[in-house]
Amino acid sequence: MLFHDIAIICPDGQTREHMSVRVKNQLIESIEPATRSLEEVRVLDKDAYDGRGKLLIPGLVNNHSHVPMTLTRGYGEDLTLYDWLFTRIFPFEALLTEEDMYWGALLGIAEMLSGGTTSFTDMYMRIQGIFRAVTETGIKASLSNGLTGDASTDLEQTAWFKETEALIRDAAATGGQVIPNASLHAQYTSVPSLVTQLAEYNRDRKLRMHIHLSETEGEHEECKAKYGKTPSRYFADLGIFDTPTTAAHAIFIEGEDYDILRDKGVTLTHMPSSNLKIGSGLADVKSWRDHGIRVAVGTDGAGSNNNLDMIEEVTLGSFLAKGIHRDPLLFSTGELLTFATRNGALSQGREDTGLLEAGFKADLAVLDMSGLKFQPVFDYGTALFTNANASDVVLTMVDGKVLYKDGEFTTIDIEKVVWNAYRVRDEKLAALASK
Ligand SMILES: [Zn+2]
Repeated sequence: MLFHDIAIICPDGQTREHMSVRVKNQLIESIEPATRSLEEVRVLDKDAYDGRGKLLIPGLVNNHSHVPMTLTRGYGEDLTLYDWLFTRIFPFEALLTEEDMYWGALLGIAEMLSGGTTSFTDMYMRIQGIFRAVTETGIKASLSNGLTGDASTDLEQTAWFKETEALIRDAAATGGQVIPNASLHAQYTSVPSLVTQLAEYNRDRKLRMHIHLSETEGEHEECKAKYGKTPSRYFADLGIFDTPTTAAHAIFIEGEDYDILRDKGVTLTHMPSSNLKIGSGLADVKSWRDHGIRVAVGTDGAGSNNNLDMIEEVTLGSFLAKGIHRDPLLFSTGELLTFATRNGALSQGREDTGLLEAGFKADLAVLDMSGLKFQPVFDYGTALFTNANASDVVLTMVDGKVLYKDGEFTTIDIEKVVWNAYRVRDEKLAALASK
């Protein structure tokens, strides 16, 4: 496939217009200035893609999600976190089957593909359903089941253990499309003896780790009161960070936490919509970056966002940083794009992904900037995280395959997915009402 006469953001963060990007097999084959007209190019390649008025970027990596939570989108708004979880989300989730997870995941994946996301890092449960949705659609994912438990928990006897072992086996046959992760839900939903068992298992299995970290002030302070250390120190001491880790939220990290997280190579995932909506607070991404910590971006589950729009998430994060620090230079377009693409890919262990460079995986997204709100365009690159959102994406490609184009999915029957999402929702609401 040839993207002809299109604007791109180069790895150095600069926008270059009138470029020609060729994709062959699964890879970006070449990136060079477009020197001929579309008509001339189409003599040789009748399917050459008309890139005029469009911006090509590396595919976005949603580095923290609970993808089937699309099914609970909008179920219980304007509640405290505690009431939302205990009166709505947990009872609803308890009823979800593996098949329900499949439909919820398909809906989330479709939304992500339509918004330029080519890979996501997920933590949920009954993940065989999510695995099936990922492999059928062609999106990439790092999947995990968030472990919870108490002092009586023997890791090898848990449903979590069976699911994770099955995931490792199944993922091995996907050629890297699915990467199995280990996952601990959070410090406050586990105990040290369980965390130690998990860290041992993780070192043995050489998995990447995915956790929630210091999301609320309450959990952060309770950990300090109970163990005399912050959650970051607690996890480091118990060996959780001994394999590459991605940690979500990190709003309340402090003091030596920054050095621990940097030295252990932990990636922190910023999710400003969720942080704001749940009323948790604001993460200081500038401090993360200034301490040399790798920064990535995620949407969190659809219940607490309420969409899976990565472009909106990056823009909100950038605007918040500018306002909080009274510094309009936070952050450059190149830096923001790195947070949302390359850093997420590296966090997943995908060294060959997330850069617009020959030889890298052709995980790409195209935005149409011919709409009124972009006119007149001064710079396609800087328009990305100031003025665009997911609905401006017109094409998404994973491993060189077009999975979404102009409102159509090539691997998803979207009407069937939406119908099933309503069916699952109505069945669960009826079951809850009859209790
Ligand atoms: Zn989360």
